[in-house]
Amino acid sequence: MQYQRSSQLFTEAQKVLPGGVNSPVRAFKAVGGTPLFIKEAKGAYMIDEDDTHFLDYINSWGPMILGHAFPPVIEAITQTAKKGTSFGTPTELETLLASLAVSMVPNIDKIRFVNSGTEACMSAIRLARGYTRKDKIIKFSGCYHGHSDSFLIQAGSGAVTFGTPNSPGVTQGTAKDTLLAEFNNINSVKALINSNKNEIACIILEPVAGNMGCIPPKDGFLQSLRDLCNENNILLLFDEVMTGFRLAKGGAQELYNINADIVMFGKVIGGGLPVGAFAARAEIMDYLAPEGPVYQAGTLSGNPLAMAAGLAMLTHLNNHPGIYQSLDEKGAYLKKGIKKVLSQNKIPHTINRVGSMLSVHFSEKPVTNFKTATNAAKGSMFKKFFHGMLNNKIYIAPSAFETWFLSDALSYQDIDKTIEVVKKTAKDLL
Ligand SMILES: *Cc1c(COP(=O)(O)O)cnc(C)c1O
Repeated sequence: MQYQRSSQLFTEAQKVLPGGVNSPVRAFKAVGGTPLFIKEAKGAYMIDEDDTHFLDYINSWGPMILGHAFPPVIEAITQTAKKGTSFGTPTELETLLASLAVSMVPNIDKIRFVNSGTEACMSAIRLARGYTRKDKIIKFSGCYHGHSDSFLIQAGSGAVTFGTPNSPGVTQGTAKDTLLAEFNNINSVKALINSNKNEIACIILEPVAGNMGCIPPKDGFLQSLRDLCNENNILLLFDEVMTGFRLAKGGAQELYNINADIVMFGKVIGGGLPVGAFAARAEIMDYLAPEGPVYQAGTLSGNPLAMAAGLAMLTHLNNHPGIYQSLDEKGAYLKKGIKKVLSQNKIPHTINRVGSMLSVHFSEKPVTNFKTATNAAKGSMFKKFFHGMLNNKIYIAPSAFETWFLSDALSYQDIDKTIEVVKKTAKDLL
């Protein structure tokens, strides 16, 4: 029976793990029901503990751009593990992955590896503050940069799914240094800069927002931010934890031809192991300890298994740049198919897409920022849609504020199947 064993496992998990999970969005709280316990995954599919095969559009929330259990990645991890799992010393693998990443991404000379996207963003703003000797940062409502205190001010992703945009435990002292602007609204940024003259260290954003659904930057928005930063001696930080190595080899910087000052990575760069990273030109990166005064460290940073997995992943992407074109075409095909079916069934909708990131919003109004994303998520349509898809073995993220991720393992047959299921599901939505 579908979900039976997952349901039992969830009951057990809740006794020893808060909410039964180690990361909130996994718990299905926003949509109700039992989270799937997965025992195995291969290519575009995941198999749950009840032996049901699901077509996966979450892809571990982004990393699995080549599909699950990609053989070169598994081989690299296996071979590396046989030689030991951690030494706490430099290894050649770190330099190999760093050199490759630096060669793929524009405008960076050096990179520091950490263990998660959260750590990357948290460390990057410390570096920006140390380098500029200024304290305040500007972030955008609905952008998610991990769960570090400074960012839990109207954050996207799980933080908004559960209606606690400002978490208890974040002090007033920390919160006052995070200024909030509106995504795609350059005037909201100008106003903050004008009222905080010479106090702003950096502007941090997801160049393509992916944690309030997928929201592309409007034409000229990123360039205007770049100009404002140049004029006001502010660093521009691109959080490419989601977009890095996904939208293009060089991420959003390459796609939109805009240089950021510090870029953060996670997800794809670790090939499915816990890796984050931040990178910049040498003059900024050399401000980090042990070269410079800004402290940052990690016992397991640059872990050999994680570096080997990332190296295998990025090597494949670097050698097969056609993957980005192919993902973009699959994304366009999926969007067109869903759009047609929803239109035929008179379901109000807006579908946003950039390359292999896509989100379906149940509203006719354009979704361009946090406010419009939140308005589109009102009502119960997403919940019904989610369960309709899941009951037909298509696994999308259990929140209206998450993006669908396509992987290279996804076939056109899989996409056609998805569109068929959307058709079936759409009939019961109104
Ligand atoms: C996932 C994500 C993070 C946080 O990364 P973790 O590895 O979950 O800590 C930060 N920024 C963005 C844009 C993300 O999508």
